[in-house]
Amino acid sequence: MQHHYINNQNTPASSGQTLPTTDPATGEVYEQIARGTAQDVDAAVRAARACYENVWQHITAAERGRLLMKLSMKVAEHADELAAIEQRDCGKPVKQAKADAAALSRYFEFYAGAADKLMGETIPYQNGFAVFTWREAFGVVGNIIPWNYPMQIFGRSVGGALAAGNVCVVKPSEDACLSLLRVAQLAADVGFPAGAINIITGYGHEVGDAIAKHPGIDHISFTGSPRVGTLIQQVAAERHCPVTLELGGKSPQIVFADADLDAAIPVIINAIVQNAGQTCSAGSRLLVDELIYDKLLDRLGTAFENLRAGPPAMDLDLGPLIRQSQQQRVWDFLSDAQVAGIPMVAQGKVVDVAPESGYYQAPTLLRDVPVHHRLAQEEIFGPVLCAMKFKDEDEAIRIANATKFGLVAGLWTRDGARQLRLAKRIQAGQVFINNYGAGGGVELPFGGVKSSGYGREKGFEALYGFTQLKTVAVRHG
Ligand code: NAD
Repeated sequence: MQHHYINNQNTPASSGQTLPTTDPATGEVYEQIARGTAQDVDAAVRAARACYENVWQHITAAERGRLLMKLSMKVAEHADELAAIEQRDCGKPVKQAKADAAALSRYFEFYAGAADKLMGETIPYQNGFAVFTWREAFGVVGNIIPWNYPMQIFGRSVGGALAAGNVCVVKPSEDACLSLLRVAQLAADVGFPAGAINIITGYGHEVGDAIAKHPGIDHISFTGSPRVGTLIQQVAAERHCPVTLELGGKSPQIVFADADLDAAIPVIINAIVQNAGQTCSAGSRLLVDELIYDKLLDRLGTAFENLRAGPPAMDLDLGPLIRQSQQQRVWDFLSDAQVAGIPMVAQGKVVDVAPESGYYQAPTLLRDVPVHHRLAQEEIFGPVLCAMKFKDEDEAIRIANATKFGLVAGLWTRDGARQLRLAKRIQAGQVFINNYGAGGGVELPFGGVKSSGYGREKGFEALYGFTQLKTVAVRHG
């Protein structure tokens, strides 16, 4: 039985209610979590506010950095334990779960070093004035986190918020919250004051909604679906609470005839298979120069046939999807493909020993997907790669930009001028040239355009989003 974490204490739900946690590898319930309410959110916000006013805002930026560095090292010490928790909670293969624990440690390390390097500016103004800016924390940040990368997204959202001088009320996904409850305990162990990191578990429409509405939350960092992003934005607008929205994607990987295919193929595959395709920045659309379309799909087809999905402990190419409704969602997309006559090039396999009751899906490569079909427009959030061809740069850009999303793009070409020309024209928050970083790069500012959201997290840039600027004008004569 897992409780909320408020004021550095395991705290039962005020309602006494719980929710079951399911193992995606088997479909079996194996734990109960607290089902939070607005009352629990209120208790967490009060704890956070008291911490902010009495402790956190009085310690130096360097001291915040030292605490984050201790947490980074503590997470590294407990990496195997945290990876094992997340492996079971999310169905991640061993390698992926370990990579996520390492990334969490690295986020805290990065923001530890950044905490005392966030500076204002001096501004030339009228004679007789000294004008400068301060970057001030908001106070209490609400961090709402999805299930696909709980540790990584906690690291970037909470790490950045704390480094910039805020305290946090965190709402993990009801589908995957166990690793974060443990990280909050580790933070207390290394000396984070009571109330700096609070975690309330439960449903989005109960706990998440209460965070968005609470007048004591000064800023919201939301990562999740565009649908819920809209709701958060609407609710927060009522009290003019600033929001950062990290939403979905339908990211293109664009391959020109001059690309180094040996380098591109494994990266293209990893970008859709990583985390079973449940990655906001998955490279889910493959746009290929017509000159090499058949050749590339032949090679990718062979590689897809060798991909294997199975139990996380087997550490195969991919584990199960997070839950039955997600599996059903992928099946619905694949049956739409069949109805529309979209050809399947190849499919990998689910290994025989995978339990029938687990939520497995074989990786699937589709070709000739019409640009405006829902398969090419909506997030499938599963290991399904949709290939389509283009004849020239203009058509490639037209297709790349023809969705409501704009999160990440990949460009494969040896032509340097074309690399820069197209990087400018692609609507995306990140462009990778001759590589692709689905979710990668702690140091790299990340975020979307259009319906992929706004604001940037990760990298130093995130610290600007977790602070507000105050201008001070001193008349000295
Ligand atoms: P989701 O929007 O369903 O849930 C995200 C979080 O919001 C969860 O904690 C959920 O409980 C909470 N929530 C749900 N309803 C709420 C409400 N009414 N009010 C407040 N909070 C509410 O998303 P998900 O299914 O957990 O995650 C998958 C989505 O997240 C995909 O769209 C994916 O692209 C996106 N995502 C984006 C990024 C990014 O950085 N851009 C990263 C990871 C995932």
